[in-house]
Amino acid sequence: MAQQTITAVLAAAPAALQSVNTVRLDGPADLIGFRRAARALLAQRVEPDLVRWSVVSSPELDLFAENPGPSTAHPASPQTATAPSPPITVPAAFGELVAHAGLHRDPHRFALLYRLLWRLQHEPALRHDPLDAEWMQAAQMARAVRRDAHKMRAFVRLRPLQRPDGDGTWHVAWFEPDHHVLEATAPFFSRRFANLHWAILTPDRCASWDGVRLSFSPGANPQDAPPADAGEALWLTYYQSIFNPARLKVDAMVREMPRRYWKNLPEATLIRSLTAEANGRNALMIDRPAQGPRRRVRAPIAVHSAPLSPAPDRMSPVVENLSPTQRSQAWAEARDAACRCTQCPLHAQATQTVFGEGPLNATLMLVGEQPGDHEDLRGRPFTGPAGQLLDAALLQLGVDRQQAYVTNAVKHFKFELRGQRRLHKTASQQEVADCLDWLEREIALVQPQALVALGGTAARSLLGRPVSVMQARGQWHARDDGRPVLVTLHPSALLRLPEGERAAMHHQWLSDLAQAAAWVDSPGRGGATRPPLSAQFDPGTGR
Ligand code: URA
Repeated sequence: MAQQTITAVLAAAPAALQSVNTVRLDGPADLIGFRRAARALLAQRVEPDLVRWSVVSSPELDLFAENPGPSTAHPASPQTATAPSPPITVPAAFGELVAHAGLHRDPHRFALLYRLLWRLQHEPALRHDPLDAEWMQAAQMARAVRRDAHKMRAFVRLRPLQRPDGDGTWHVAWFEPDHHVLEATAPFFSRRFANLHWAILTPDRCASWDGVRLSFSPGANPQDAPPADAGEALWLTYYQSIFNPARLKVDAMVREMPRRYWKNLPEATLIRSLTAEANGRNALMIDRPAQGPRRRVRAPIAVHSAPLSPAPDRMSPVVENLSPTQRSQAWAEARDAACRCTQCPLHAQATQTVFGEGPLNATLMLVGEQPGDHEDLRGRPFTGPAGQLLDAALLQLGVDRQQAYVTNAVKHFKFELRGQRRLHKTASQQEVADCLDWLEREIALVQPQALVALGGTAARSLLGRPVSVMQARGQWHARDDGRPVLVTLHPSALLRLPEGERAAMHHQWLSDLAQAAAWVDSPGRGGATRPPLSAQFDPGTGR
């Protein structure tokens, strides 16, 4: 917020009451200065027509200052500016009006608000007249400002930018608000992206956050913001693949995402082609013959045809000195036993058990929460939208998903039916605990050198304690068996984020996964780039 002093306020002498008083505020969003000056003016019964409002270095309001007329500008009067003024009572709605309409770009906003304040003191009926023209004008301004702040929260796209000193990454966005909403909106971003260093550049003013302090500086140019990055290209591919032509409502979309914001929204470049293709894609869908239900049940497994009770199926997780063949046999037995598991009620509703998959000598194991709708039908983990996002991220990090072992903390899909749709439901702690043996058995068989917990359920299962993902993400934590576990977000959590927050969070997620990628032996990666555990991980503390 600008320095909250009124640099030149008003002449206090009664003799000057008939002359014009110039109030110069510290900036176009200096509402504290406005309130203070308005209180002082009112205390001295200065009529609204005798006040000119001006803003330091604002071309819009400085119009008045440059052209003050013969009797306007008064020298600063610090005593008047700081003198305590008697309390003024106004309805709470007026405070709200000032907080929003005061940020409107209309150069007459402060004059209008002071006139309303004056009238509230002299025309008590005004507070009960919702149709008053001046009140309505201010209310309309307040609405426009609220809408602008909302659009800013939704449409700011932070893009990563390497710092020139090589000391980490900044996330920078270019945005052009219609009104002076940057200072009022910036705290939202510092709460949302508390552990990023970011800057939001606008033509009037810039905000930046260094992880501790929010600061403001003069406006910038669009060229100061970074261009699109590789992560963004990934998002565009993803938006394209999840675009559903049958759900397209162009009018509603344009209402929610007005065209004037499109130039700074990466995904907007796709809108024209996707909407143009929508009718054709709909027609194709309608013409396609109906398919039978995709629900299928895995064929019974021959190895153990006799039904087994869950207990004998559960072998000790100590699996040592097995030859590769014995190991694959033991894994197949574990999977088959899991396919018959009835330990918790989830088996009854799900199509099938979704066991982990991947090389049994994988150095890295990725653990998710539970299969989703796609996975339940296909019988393989991470094959739906979250899986596609995960695959694309791994690919971008130079890791072929086939090199990692991928599994879930819970092996059955838990859902509730909403009409035709099966909506994911979080498994209860008991259900997660019931499935833990299968996960431990996979770990014992694969013996990964490192694991990734994708989301809180996986983290809790792997570490045996509740984990706050946002606090623990990006760090290695020790399991009881000494294996390091990197905690990060679940890909579905990224998919659920409001669009404005995805790009930055996705970038963080990629950098988390990059730490784990170093554990995968890929051609060209080898162990060479693998971070030495001792440098980043103390099994004692898990840090
Ligand atoms: N979410 C998960 O946690 N696992 C999957 O396999 C799919 C979605």
